[in-house]
Amino acid sequence: MGSQLAGLTWHCMVCGDERPDEAISVYHLPIPGMEDQFPGTRTNVRYCNDRPNCTARAVHYNDPEEQAERRRIADQQRMAATKREERKSLWHRLFGPSR
Ligand SMILES: [Zn+2]
Repeated sequence: MGSQLAGLTWHCMVCGDERPDEAISVYHLPIPGMEDQFPGTRTNVRYCNDRPNCTARAVHYNDPEEQAERRRIADQQRMAATKREERKSLWHRLFGPSR
């Protein structure tokens, strides 16, 4: 008889990988600037507990530097996606069926 939790997976909020339940832990981080207005407000950060890089970065999840780094990576991914789309539409203009 299998546990109900078997097969349950989570996305690590640091590396973005989907991991099995036992490989994911949760940090409850205070949110900078929120503590005064909303005491006890926490960010639940899910991270790989078996990857030192994820464990180390999860602690800094709310740091401005870490947020900037995540934005930078997200921007890069968005730009790469945009470039892919542009190449695709260019290809269609040049070689696609004429309308
Ligand atoms: Zn991870």
